[in-house]
Amino acid sequence: MAEVILSKVRKAYGNVLAVKDFSLDIADQEFVVLVGPSGCGKSTTLRMIAGLEDITSGTITIGNRVVNDLQPKDRDIAMVFQNYALYQHMTVYDNLAFGLRNRRTPERDIEAAIRHAAKVLSIEGLLDRRPRQLSGGQQQRVALGRCIVRNPKVFLFDEPLSNLDAQLRAQMRLEIKELRQRVPTTSIFVTHDQVEAMTLGDRIVVMKDGLVQQVGTPLELYRRPVNQFVASFIGSPSMNFFQMRISGAGDQILLTGEGLSFALPPSRFPGLARSDSDSVTVGVRPQHLRLGRAEDADQVSFSGTLMVTEQLGDEQLLAIRVGNSDIRIAGVDPELNLATGASIEVATAMDNLHIFDGTSGVALR
Ligand code: ADP
Repeated sequence: MAEVILSKVRKAYGNVLAVKDFSLDIADQEFVVLVGPSGCGKSTTLRMIAGLEDITSGTITIGNRVVNDLQPKDRDIAMVFQNYALYQHMTVYDNLAFGLRNRRTPERDIEAAIRHAAKVLSIEGLLDRRPRQLSGGQQQRVALGRCIVRNPKVFLFDEPLSNLDAQLRAQMRLEIKELRQRVPTTSIFVTHDQVEAMTLGDRIVVMKDGLVQQVGTPLELYRRPVNQFVASFIGSPSMNFFQMRISGAGDQILLTGEGLSFALPPSRFPGLARSDSDSVTVGVRPQHLRLGRAEDADQVSFSGTLMVTEQLGDEQLLAIRVGNSDIRIAGVDPELNLATGASIEVATAMDNLHIFDGTSGVALR
């Protein structure tokens, strides 16, 4: 049982601030995912929690104990890496036993822990094999098994699925979720893959340039991104954006740009009405656009030229050119036969519009 508390944790490599004042309370048994593009500081954060990197400043607490100066082996954590780091010359059993034998755990207890872990992970039949006689997914399960046998307070995962092919990755995601139900343990999982983050995390921490951008549940991040970066990072295909200017106020806020104009009621967009900025970025998700005209005053519509269609079987994805932007539309009827070059009208409810400050990218509603 362990809470993990990071308080203003910072890491500098010379002049480079890899992690800037990271603060987060992770509840006991919570599964938190750190996500962001390469170089945003997520691995460094995880490695500081593990004790594999010194902390420049700040405090890390695991289960009521400040661990800043504790060796990794004394922190009661277990870490799964991208390359499973299994010992090739040992059997699966000996790989699982290795850490416990180092701690001089009695063989009887080791055996009981391995039987339990092997059952949880369905690898009972593999204990006499060597790693090279296992598939990628089986090796990954053994790597997880090594964590489970130690019964740690916290699991740390450093991109553990990124070496697997897409199908196996999807399967291992499910296995990690099932494992959570059987072995509920506080977990911190690092990935650059937003789908992995969305599907695994109770809460997600989105990072960019060493800074936490937003912390929230998957739905909070999807529905209410606090800035344009989070909006574009979460969701697939990525959110569409238009650069627009505020050209009128009063009863209606008029936004124009890219050959479009939207008239929005200030009561529905109070943040926009209060903004001093005259340039905004309007965002709308591909899944929220549908073909056709606006049907009532709650909807806005615009048209563009069809550039590309992508057939996915259960839906089509379209790309239409609107002004200088390529706009994606998802969820289009796969049977619909559309000619490239055609003019396509699309509509969406006003509530689906996200509005960001044109300079800072901060959400205005
Ligand atoms: P991520 O895991 O999000 O890809 P990292 O935590 O690995 O990012 O790196 C964050 C930043 O710190 C990057 O700019 C990276 O170049 C820098 N960095 C990481 N490790 C070192 C190091 N040992 N020495 C200098 N800079 C480093």
